[in-house]
Amino acid sequence: MPGSPLKLKSSANAVATTSLLRNWNVLVVDDDVEVHTVTRMILSKMRYKERGITILSAYSAAEAHALLQRERDIAAILLDVVMETDDAGLRLVKTIREELGNSATRIILRTGQPGQAPEERVIVDYDINDYKAKSELTAQKLFTTVMAALRSFETIVSLEKTRNGLEKILDSTDTLFQVHSLQQFASGVLTQLSAFLGCQPNGVIYMQRSPVALNEDLSSCNDMTIMASSGEYRDCLNCTMDGDCKHQNMLAFARQALVTRQNQLGDEYTAIYLGNGDNHATVALLHEGLGVPDASDRKLLEVFSSKIAIALANALNYQKMVTAEQAATTDFLTGLDNRRQLLRLGLPLVARAHRAGTSLAVAMLDIDHFKRINDTWGHDAGDEVLSRVGQMMKTRFRNSDVVARFGGEEFCVIATDLTPEAALTLLDHFRRQVAAEIFEFDADKLSITISIGVTTKVQDNIDAMIIAADNLLYRAKETGRNRVLLD
Ligand code: GH3
Ligand code: MG
Ligand code: MG
Repeated sequence: MPGSPLKLKSSANAVATTSLLRNWNVLVVDDDVEVHTVTRMILSKMRYKERGITILSAYSAAEAHALLQRERDIAAILLDVVMETDDAGLRLVKTIREELGNSATRIILRTGQPGQAPEERVIVDYDINDYKAKSELTAQKLFTTVMAALRSFETIVSLEKTRNGLEKILDSTDTLFQVHSLQQFASGVLTQLSAFLGCQPNGVIYMQRSPVALNEDLSSCNDMTIMASSGEYRDCLNCTMDGDCKHQNMLAFARQALVTRQNQLGDEYTAIYLGNGDNHATVALLHEGLGVPDASDRKLLEVFSSKIAIALANALNYQKMVTAEQAATTDFLTGLDNRRQLLRLGLPLVARAHRAGTSLAVAMLDIDHFKRINDTWGHDAGDEVLSRVGQMMKTRFRNSDVVARFGGEEFCVIATDLTPEAALTLLDHFRRQVAAEIFEFDADKLSITISIGVTTKVQDNIDAMIIAADNLLYRAKETGRNRVLLD
């Protein structure tokens, strides 16, 4: 059943149910009432792997069909051949395997008239697992036959369950490996984990905000924060482990997974420890107990959690990479691109405009007498001015333009598809906008001006255009500041 929940818990309609408490179901299909009585007598005391036997009875193929539609958890069928018709039992085999899609249940054909259904033909043509003439089935033989059937049913169910579980693990980790935002990743883990366990997604993901060392004692770990929550816990987002969260039981359980660095399987909660080397310790918790998981359930859960942990490490590394990339390309004070990024982005724009003969403008902007602001109101005031001018540039120019802090109190804009007249208008408008802006420091109100040099003569390299714009800026300064000069 690929795609369906693993259902570690027992359920009426899942094939894969091997709860310790439930009996093995054995179905007797025979139109002879006596056969039912004798079979029940022989098998009633039988036990296999600490589970008893429940005998279900059907007195015709039709009755058996109806029963099998309701109850899929049947380990073995002792099936008569001649009932409503001479081949009613054989037809039922086809129905079970093909129509009901049940391949796990062991079918033992038990016929009173072997001549009616010759063994060799039947075992080849029909998907049965054993063939017995009623006359050869002594009590001992019947016991042995059913015991063997239970054993192979158990193996099949366990393999099927493992296969379903592994399919689910592959499906869910595939999804999670594609998610790069940590936030989305954490929500994804809750969704996938609840699908995996076949329960409602009531849960949280705790993550350590700062990285922890491999052997660090996590018992005093107070830096855990809920970074994803769903269902009944949806209000818990950003709660911390040491905070006064109203779900104290849940918290204690999650903490146990953290401290032991092991999955915790309780009656009420399931906590999965997602260790990832020296990275941020993480615990996924669901408000769902798994009953008594068997060894293969535990193993599957371990495989699942180790895969998720790898995907998590992957997402964390990706995030680190993005942060590092941002730091390398962004000016931290203004949030604009830095000079390195300006050159990187500008290079192909200038080359393309030069090749295609399209218009492009490079402008250098410099705040006038900026040093006086630092000298009069302090460096923080200077920073504030730089940051505000950066903000204004971000909103004034198009997203497709490259807008950067070139260094100090100098900025640079590369704008494409702009005629010289349009460039002049745009930049002069910005100059006036800056001049109209009021800054307040220590109850002093002040305004600033900027000088701008802009070149629209497209050259074949960006450095040359920047030098040209800078020369114009220098002339703008010389001729009185607060102006735009265009070549
Ligand atoms: P001009 O009109 O000729 O451009 O005069 P100016 O004072 O603006 O130019 P100058 O180059 O003489 O001084 C620029 C000052 O900008 C000097 C420097 O300390 C300051 N500065 C550079 N980077 C920063 C910064 O990140 N924050 C602050 N607050 N000041 C900075
Ligand atoms: Mg200046
Ligand atoms: Mg300067």
